[in-house]
Amino acid sequence: MQREAGLNTKGYSERDDKRILDALGRGLLREFPNPDRTGCPGSAVLKRIASHEMPLAEAEKWLDHLTSCSPCYRDFSELQAGYRHRRMQTILAIAASILIVVGVAGWALFFKQKGAAVVQTAVLDLRNRSVPRGGEANPGEQPLEVSRAVRHLNVYLPLGSSEGPYEMRIATTTGSAVFATNGVASLKDGVTSIQVAVDLSSAPSGQYVFQVRRPDSNWTSYPVILH
Ligand SMILES: [Zn+2]
Repeated sequence: MQREAGLNTKGYSERDDKRILDALGRGLLREFPNPDRTGCPGSAVLKRIASHEMPLAEAEKWLDHLTSCSPCYRDFSELQAGYRHRRMQTILAIAASILIVVGVAGWALFFKQKGAAVVQTAVLDLRNRSVPRGGEANPGEQPLEVSRAVRHLNVYLPLGSSEGPYEMRIATTTGSAVFATNGVASLKDGVTSIQVAVDLSSAPSGQYVFQVRRPDSNWTSYPVILH
């Protein structure tokens, strides 16, 4: 027996509904006028049958009457149409609530990922890097790599660097800065480091140099790849 899970109660199937309607449908609207409503079960019973609140076994005994009483058939048809309409509305409401849940979950996931991106921090570890001059990469040393999506840089300055103010920038290999900022280095656990906010989203991917200096000193440059 085919059922719509959870919606079709008390043993009715679509086939039962159709069987009832088919049995009732053969000209019943006019052939059995029954103006005095003799033997009619009453609208409460019709309503319970149409809404499937009455078990089918109990409803069976009224089917003979419904097949021989035009007013009851008309009432039943209207009630059943209303019931089908409400059931469709229920299905639509369930579908809508599923869409809402999916939508909310989607937004939550979106903001979660966005949030993860916002707090993303890149570490630029300069501690054991040789100090190339003029932005030339030191052969055998991999350039630094930074995602353009990062929002914070944590720069570990070369060993022995002093605390205090520093200037930093990321420049193209021809020397134009795509990002510049100031920070104050502090010594913690033997590492002199600076944390700065960064926005590299408008810089194209490619080769750059990361430059750092004490104020009024010369830049020290490290090759860096933005990707
Ligand atoms: Zn009747």
